[in-house]
Amino acid sequence: MEKIRIAIDGPSGAGKSTVAKDLAKILNIDYIDTGAMYRAVGYKMLQQNIGLDEADRLSKMLETTEIDFAKGNIILDGEVINDKIRTQEIAKMASDCSALASVRAKLVDLQRNMGQLKSVVMDGRDIGTNVLPDAEYKFYITATAEERAHRRWLELISKGDLISQEKVLEDMIQRDINDSTRLLNPLKKAEDAIEIDSTKKNAEETTAIVLSYIK
Ligand code: C5P
Repeated sequence: MEKIRIAIDGPSGAGKSTVAKDLAKILNIDYIDTGAMYRAVGYKMLQQNIGLDEADRLSKMLETTEIDFAKGNIILDGEVINDKIRTQEIAKMASDCSALASVRAKLVDLQRNMGQLKSVVMDGRDIGTNVLPDAEYKFYITATAEERAHRRWLELISKGDLISQEKVLEDMIQRDINDSTRLLNPLKKAEDAIEIDSTKKNAEETTAIVLSYIK
């Protein structure tokens, strides 16, 4: 199979990661969850108590940070951190630290390297516009904020988080604003991306639409 790179962007909760994981399995290629990489940096900043304004400590920390994916796991400095980064606190920290130039430079570099050698499906906010601008396929998946918050709330309560749906919606709207108004690589549909509204579709239907363009 020739090398293909599939970029999937869109706001949180639109269903990007489910579709990306399904595609990776069906096409037998690697899945790179770039949001998890920003979460990993946010997690490490919280652990080391590094503030958003502590540029020196942050760059030192980034120099010695290793992030990798293996068998569906995200690995930060040798430790599997899958579950630790799926909290509202880390989501907020990921969104905040993703606006910092040093963090973006480090992660975009890693992501480009990951997409250089093999076929990948990569999801995030700036994949089609910035990380892989020459990707063979680009998709932009959206859904209404209410639907996205509902999905995220179901996910959180299934893990025992007793958060209200209203609070999840409020956090999501704030994160949408942060992600689409930041100066560096904001969330934006690439001009040549195919837009899919997943509001009234389940994951299989959305994956089928994406696949219909690829096959
Ligand atoms: O997709 P996920 O919700 O895990 O992403 C966490 C945060 O990471 C997002 O809110 C966004 O601020 C940031 N992010 C980014 N660029 C990407 C992927 C995620 O800025 N390519």
